Amino acid sequence: MPEIRWLIDASYFIAAVLFILGLKKMSSPVTARKGILWAGMGMVLAIAVTFLTPGESTPFIPTDNIVLMVVAIAIGGSIAWISGKKVAMTDMPQMVAIYNGMGGGAAAGIAAVEFARGHMHGTVLFTLATLGALIGSVSFSGSCVAFAKLQGLMNRAFRLPAQNIVNAVLTLVTLWLGIAIIWIGHSASPDPIYNLLYGTGAMVPGWFLISFFICALALGVIVTLPIGGADMPVVISLFNAFTGLAVGFEGYVLGNPALIIAGIVVGAAGTLLTQLMARAMNRSIFNILFQPISGEAQAGSMIEGTMKEVSARDAAAMMRYASKVIIIPGYGMAVAGAQHKVWEMTESLENAGVDVKFAIHPVAGRMPGHMNVLLAEAGVPYEKIFDLEEINSDFNQTDVALVIGANDVVNPVARTDKSSPIYGMPILNADHASQAIVVKRGKGAGYSGIENALFYTDNCRMLYGSAQKVVADVIQNLKTME
Ligand code: NDP
Repeated sequence: MPEIRWLIDASYFIAAVLFILGLKKMSSPVTARKGILWAGMGMVLAIAVTFLTPGESTPFIPTDNIVLMVVAIAIGGSIAWISGKKVAMTDMPQMVAIYNGMGGGAAAGIAAVEFARGHMHGTVLFTLATLGALIGSVSFSGSCVAFAKLQGLMNRAFRLPAQNIVNAVLTLVTLWLGIAIIWIGHSASPDPIYNLLYGTGAMVPGWFLISFFICALALGVIVTLPIGGADMPVVISLFNAFTGLAVGFEGYVLGNPALIIAGIVVGAAGTLLTQLMARAMNRSIFNILFQPISGEAQAGSMIEGTMKEVSARDAAAMMRYASKVIIIPGYGMAVAGAQHKVWEMTESLENAGVDVKFAIHPVAGRMPGHMNVLLAEAGVPYEKIFDLEEINSDFNQTDVALVIGANDVVNPVARTDKSSPIYGMPILNADHASQAIVVKRGKGAGYSGIENALFYTDNCRMLYGSAQKVVADVIQNLKTME
């Protein structure tokens, strides 16, 4: 059926173009929603075309297993629709983690089926299938552990005795099994090109495959278990990149161009995002995986001084009579859902002639872009929102830095205390402003579990309470000052 083949290839090409254009649009908050729609349309097209693909047992009729496919789409689609509607913004990271893990698991599943069918030929296919199976399995089990931790279902930091040795041994055993599987697909033919492309197409023994998958899954669990501190976002992003790679490899095995392109796009974007986040936290990927920051509180060096409280009325007056205010939102603003009140307060200050800007740290909140999304939802114009590098030098000329539910991202120990687990992570220079005001409920630590030296400095005042209520109080007080 050459006409169908032509239609299938053309549709995959259009789907790939839609993925790439969609991703491009996602790079700006102004066009991001459109980008998601475009990429979604590409995915719908790719799935629809799969139904036209001639089946093996029915080469002249589209697709075997139509019933199974429809049932799988109905179950998966319903779960995704319901959970996507219900999920709170603050729970997004665990949702991303689990969906991402499913992609890795699916890629590993494709490899398992292809090995079991024994239809694959040549060292190239065996190598790609094995790599996809390894990376997909690690991403699947690692993402499940990340989900369980972020959802509060398991202890954030769990280290085995001799963790690094266990990691190394398991990695070696898994690699050995993987290489052995590739060897099985290798033929004794003296012609190397024949070997690469056609090989023997031998069946991999079942026990071998099972041992390989068990080791790969265990590797994902073991590597992710001790990661619990501020490193978690980078790990989720890394697994995302892994899933993309695994899908790309399995796309090659299946000869499906849409899978290859989608996988490569996700793999490349995920790798860049991972690097960006790792740089934002001044951590190397190796350190994150093998010397993780524990999620438990770290003492660090002793911080001197006391926390000094301020009332909503005094905080309102300090900002009302300032000329420059920078607002630093963090996870607490997201939990409190305070973004709309924060924008209302900003408008009120601007009406009084105060210059107000927003400073966003790359890992503020619990997912990349978390704060940008919330502020955009509240209607804050994009030109008021600045990244760390753009705004950090402004703090020296700022009267008030208002920190709303942020903690780790403004902790000066990252600059000064070499023993601190977040040492070296670039932070927003709230302590360089003439005055810092910190909105939080009490003395709770940030995600990394360490004390914040900013709160104890002479020019810092604590405004206690849940962010939405506190900001509403500030707005009320600003009204009385008009
Ligand atoms: P943090 O988690 O460091 O601190 C949040 C602060 O908000 C806490 O100290 C808490 O103090 C306060 N808070 C909690 N609830 C409320 C509320 N209702 N009202 C007011 N304050 C509240 O947040 P940051 O945004 O500064 O830093 C993000 C951290 O999360 C980093 O360590 C980052 O690495 C990590 N992370 C980031 C991800 C990302 O991709 N962005 C993903 C996963 C983790 P109190 O309890 O006293 O109120």
